[in-house]
Amino acid sequence: MTEHKVICWDCGSETEDPYVYTCPKCGGLLMVKMDLEPVKEMRPEDLRKEKLGVWRYAPFMPVDPLHKVSIQEGGTPLYKTDGLAWEVGVSEVHVKFDGLNPTGSFKDRGMTVGVSRAKELGAKIVGCASTGNTSASLAAYAAKADIKCAVFLPSGKVAAGKLAQALFYGAKVLSIDGNFDEALDLARKMADERRLYLLNSINPYRPEGQKSVLFEIIDQLDYEVPDRIILPVGNAGNISAVHKAIQELQEVGWIDKVPMLTGIQAEGASPISKAFSAGKDDFIPEEDPETIATAIRIGNPVSGRKALRAIYDTGGFSATVTDDEIIDAQRLLGKREGVCVEPASAASIAGLIKLVSMGVIDRDERVVCICTGNGLKDPDTIIKNSPPPIPCGNSVEEVERILSR
Ligand SMILES: *Cc1c(COP(=O)(O)O)cnc(C)c1O
Ligand SMILES: [Zn+2]
Repeated sequence: MTEHKVICWDCGSETEDPYVYTCPKCGGLLMVKMDLEPVKEMRPEDLRKEKLGVWRYAPFMPVDPLHKVSIQEGGTPLYKTDGLAWEVGVSEVHVKFDGLNPTGSFKDRGMTVGVSRAKELGAKIVGCASTGNTSASLAAYAAKADIKCAVFLPSGKVAAGKLAQALFYGAKVLSIDGNFDEALDLARKMADERRLYLLNSINPYRPEGQKSVLFEIIDQLDYEVPDRIILPVGNAGNISAVHKAIQELQEVGWIDKVPMLTGIQAEGASPISKAFSAGKDDFIPEEDPETIATAIRIGNPVSGRKALRAIYDTGGFSATVTDDEIIDAQRLLGKREGVCVEPASAASIAGLIKLVSMGVIDRDERVVCICTGNGLKDPDTIIKNSPPPIPCGNSVEEVERILSR
């Protein structure tokens, strides 16, 4: 672990109370500020003694590994997807498949650090509001840590696999009469009254674990920094964490080039893309976000301003994709690469396709798409958008007839 403090992202003042989630002075977003002086003495190879995963990067994490609550998160594959690159017409494309985390999404990266922190603090109850994956992940880590867990889900808007997970790991699953933004308001109220330790991405410790996806990508590419990283953006915690990781690698002198961070949103839930198109550094919240990609169906992104800074600072881009483009990209990745991602994750692939056709992405770029979650989370969407099973009798002849069609 490395020494750190919690400061305000807006005004810089330090907070010591671990149960506040916004700056007591200005109401701004909190962030962890690491003291990276000891890491400057190290080389990337020094970390490679630990196996690939979140805790390989413990010197960049603000929690003592002594309190570690881990189910072996991170260490996910980085596929070189030549078939996809050929389809899209770009020289090199990699897919970082974070759907292969223990609960099937990148949320486990943040949760291992967040729940370790809760344990360090001796928290009695942890909780979060969620579009699904955060609650699935928190429920699992709370189970592992033996801490009581409450998850706040918007009623009827959560993919089946994710709901099943939260129930399965033994959390108190609360179905809230409202959308995600309203469920978050309620969870925040509970946290303000100190009734639970809140593990949404406003918790400054969770994004620290999420930095590890960037550390792994750079590590897996042997520190040959890619030109661009594309990822879906909902609450914008992930893109902000990836940006912070880039800044920290620069600070310790391990990289000298910065990938262009490119955030993709669904057309029906796109406050950040709209702000980017208008050249603004703040966004206008949207009332009724709607998209098939439930994990990014968010109208009022908690870390929206951080995301815009991440995009501007790295010379990146933001665009929207339609639900049809998302489904096409999801199927292309399955058919061409054997990778099954959930709709929100396919937004990064849909964004790649769109930005190449718009001329924003050069054909000779080296691109990494982060695919954030596993397709099996949301089988209903896959079944609805695939040709149905073919009725077949029980004879070799009939099978032959169908296969030869
Ligand atoms: C949470 C989530 C996102 C959105 O990440 P943010 O940090 O909210 O921007 C995208 N895809 C999947 C699969 C997710 O679970
Ligand atoms: Zn402040």
